[in-house]
Amino acid sequence: MSLSILASITSDMARELAISQGVCVRPILRRVLDRDTGTESRVPIPCGATREAVCPPCARKARVLRMQQRAEGWHRDTEPEPADQLGLEDDQHDQDDGEQDRDDHDGSRRVRSTRRRSDAPDLPRVAMAARTVGRVFVTPDGKEYRPSMFLTLTLPSYGAVRGGVPVDPATYDYRRAALDALHFARLADRFWQNLRRAAGYRVQYFAAVEPQHRLAPHLHCAIRGAIPRAVLKKVIGATYSQLWWPSFDRPVYVHRQPVWDGSDYINEDTGEVLPTWQEALDELEQDPDAQPAHVMRFGEQFDMAGIIAPSPDADRAVRYLAKYLTKAITDPLGDQDEPHAAREAYIDRLHAELRFLPCSPRCANWLRYGIQPDQPGPGLVAGRCSSKAHDREHLGIGGRRVLVSRDWSGKTLAEHKADRAIVVREALLSAGIVAPEVERMAADVLSADGLPRFIWTDDNPDPATYTQVILASIAERQRWRAQYEAAKASAGPVDNCSATGPDARTTGPAHGSASPDDQPNPGLQDRQSGVSGANPQDANAVSALDDRAEGPTIPNRGRPSPRPPTGRTD
Ligand SMILES: [Zn+2]
Ligand SMILES: [Zn+2]
Repeated sequence: MSLSILASITSDMARELAISQGVCVRPILRRVLDRDTGTESRVPIPCGATREAVCPPCARKARVLRMQQRAEGWHRDTEPEPADQLGLEDDQHDQDDGEQDRDDHDGSRRVRSTRRRSDAPDLPRVAMAARTVGRVFVTPDGKEYRPSMFLTLTLPSYGAVRGGVPVDPATYDYRRAALDALHFARLADRFWQNLRRAAGYRVQYFAAVEPQHRLAPHLHCAIRGAIPRAVLKKVIGATYSQLWWPSFDRPVYVHRQPVWDGSDYINEDTGEVLPTWQEALDELEQDPDAQPAHVMRFGEQFDMAGIIAPSPDADRAVRYLAKYLTKAITDPLGDQDEPHAAREAYIDRLHAELRFLPCSPRCANWLRYGIQPDQPGPGLVAGRCSSKAHDREHLGIGGRRVLVSRDWSGKTLAEHKADRAIVVREALLSAGIVAPEVERMAADVLSADGLPRFIWTDDNPDPATYTQVILASIAERQRWRAQYEAAKASAGPVDNCSATGPDARTTGPAHGSASPDDQPNPGLQDRQSGVSGANPQDANAVSALDDRAEGPTIPNRGRPSPRPPTGRTD
């Protein structure tokens, strides 16, 4: 491409090209100075967005990784290493995708733990086996199989909905819909606890919270092992979650706001200090007539299917699970892109409800109900809580979109990423192609003087330069893909299984070498995905290539601290 053509490429064109080639459309640019050679270069770091509207290639990449994690845990027939021995985060609940507030269930737990034990549903208790894998079934002719399940859980009706809008807006229960959406993850947590009790083994799941057309969240779950329909039905019916929070039925501060006096929120007119979160909980606990602030249950409808893998059904289900992960809750479903007045009005109405309901003990909205949020500080204003659950775009589903149990695949998301890098490395090495100098720019590479050799700084080039950086990324990616294709052709098909088998972490050829690939930094490894749906069996390998395609895996690219493997907000 000649310079004059390059110059005429607009940023819009570059964006389109980047999308078609699976290259990040809004990379963060950094400069790296090599103190030994005095040369400086520019390094684009993919944005890592998880939403398609923000960056389609990065979102696609994130989704492919999730699909791999999902597929790997679903039909396991051996026990994964226990999560605590792998150093996975020790979480009373389950490993979430860290997307946001693991909001303290503390407040409600504290109250529940004393007096109100009515939380335990009426379910038969069966002996609990230590296993996490499903049972094996044997056919009369001796064939063994180990089915898994695909389950969809829905919330109850808040009023009839037709064409994506309430039939009767006057009677539709917006408040309940809003509260159920805000606290959906709690109900799901409770469901898994109950299911394990009733099914008699340590049921593992990979679940995605997704919006229905009526905008209520529902939960698509891949479950390891088969559980009889009657048991599921019983558990769904018996599961409920109570929110033991102070009452937020009546707004107290509507037109004026409590003010911060340096240590508390007070009523400006009277000087009266608002009750603290702890005081409000104490009062709740001492009130014999207290009722939970909100009670949630699932709807009557649920959907389950047994899945035997490998099969086209199993593959389809994995893809289906990932379908909405990259969408915003309010994104138009299907093809109907044109604005729809009634639909917009419905979203507005639901959003108006969500805006002022409390999302967590620390939510600024407590001020509206005359209570100081937990751990308050200056600057809190009801209606302006920073949790995205209140946004019009998220409609209550602000936090965990992916809920994964701790012993699902026995790996962290970071380890799944590392697996994919190993696949590519194998293909390249076995074809005699030297991986790029991945160590080259690592922040822990030292010069002779003992100081870091590479110095990283921020970079904010003008738009034209930015566009050229993106174009360069595209070119580099194409070069890598060509090399990779050549490597595959000469070495035979890439064995995807080598990266997905239980031993991948310990048997990969890269392991034990001095390459930094041994411990890739998960947060920085986010390359783009250019996986095309047309070639699904290449998905793992191609996206693994993408881990390398745009640049080396660098343990610490000059960031002050590595980003966590997940938990991006975009
Ligand atoms: Zn991106
Ligand atoms: Zn909030």
